Amino acid sequence: MLPKDAGPRPRNWPAQVEQMTTTPERVSPIGAVQALPDTGGFFGPYGGQAVPPHLKAIMDSIADAYLAIRETDAYQQELAELHTHYVGRPSPIYHARRLSAHAGGQAEIYLKREDLNHTGAHKINHALGEALLAKHMGKTRVIAETGAGQHGVAMATACALAGIPCEIHMGAIDIAKEHPNVTKMKILGARIVNVDSGTRTLKDAVDSAFEAYLKDPENYFYAIGSVVGPHPFPMMVRDFQAIVGREARQQFAAMTGALPDYVVACVGGGSNAMGIFSGFMDAPSVRLVGVEPSGRSLAIGDHAATLSLGKPGTMHGFHSYMLQDDQGQPQPVHSIASGLDYPSVGPEHAYLKDTGRAEYHAVDDRACLDAFMDLSRFEGIIPALESAHALAWVLQQARKADRRLRYLINLSGRGDKDADFVAETLGL
Ligand SMILES: *Cc1c(COP(=O)(O)O)cnc(C)c1O
Repeated sequence: MLPKDAGPRPRNWPAQVEQMTTTPERVSPIGAVQALPDTGGFFGPYGGQAVPPHLKAIMDSIADAYLAIRETDAYQQELAELHTHYVGRPSPIYHARRLSAHAGGQAEIYLKREDLNHTGAHKINHALGEALLAKHMGKTRVIAETGAGQHGVAMATACALAGIPCEIHMGAIDIAKEHPNVTKMKILGARIVNVDSGTRTLKDAVDSAFEAYLKDPENYFYAIGSVVGPHPFPMMVRDFQAIVGREARQQFAAMTGALPDYVVACVGGGSNAMGIFSGFMDAPSVRLVGVEPSGRSLAIGDHAATLSLGKPGTMHGFHSYMLQDDQGQPQPVHSIASGLDYPSVGPEHAYLKDTGRAEYHAVDDRACLDAFMDLSRFEGIIPALESAHALAWVLQQARKADRRLRYLINLSGRGDKDADFVAETLGL
């Protein structure tokens, strides 16, 4: 069965696609302005700017600057050129035939290879957008926090390229645990701030980074690492990631003459998922699926399945689904994939869940590890543990499939960072 909007003559797709790519008109690397969020930064009831008035004024100035700068040739051309010559875009779509056969053969599994980007994940897409924005706004320093170091490395990379000083706040425990990423950030010229207070992990790194930012928010730029935080960050980070969805739709149509039945991505804060979803939002036949980590168990502290098990609330400057205690404090979270252990989620995902346009499921650490090994052994691709969550859900569905379905997965990153941990865990 063909998706409705694939058109009556699917063979025409590749020709149309070719026309699109050869059109002399410039295609914006950030895409068109989307209907949501509204001017207050709301996606339905979610999002907004739950921050004190002086910060709201600064967030508004970032929103204004972003909306103006994104239309300029200088910014568009710089970003477009970097996509091609620096990141290596477009990233390919790969049809994982051996894995599809292993999973029963009815489902066809396709991977959008964001793992092949420079620095090995989708994060470089928004890191570049943010660093260039900071530069064009005349900011003198970029400040960010990092947990496992992935966001830190992406920002340090983008700041080295843009020629803007970069300061990364990281908990002392994470610094000890994630040594290779710390070394990379140092080599890239970032200043690492060792956060030795409280839990000495991400939570306190956020507080420390925010405190440093508030010393001079006029001149500093706080670079948020996902589609979370106060407006305009959920919108901006989505726009920077939307290149993934635009490419994927065109590539998939050219490869198969149709649209995928499912587009699937893992959800931590939700940036890689928003990126690929946004390319298929207006194609109602395409089901959008976000996959969260159910971790070790469904007990508090054992998972980070915010949309599946959380409730609406406000935290970190925005309204969305949250894993909160009765006092409004974030619950402890866990996932085998450190990039997914966040007790909230981007407000647009909350909206997509409530409206039914996207659905959200959870898979546990065990299923994630199995999927990690399956992709490695059947295709020679070692995925990030984060991305392996999306893969795990698709493999579960594929084994049950009784008709031909096409699944397109956003393979958000590569698993080099996870290889030692997995080998140790599985006793390889
Ligand atoms: C950080 C990270 C994620 C989670 O972030 P999202 O904002 O949910 O996309 C997923 N995959 C990889 C490889 C990451 O590094």
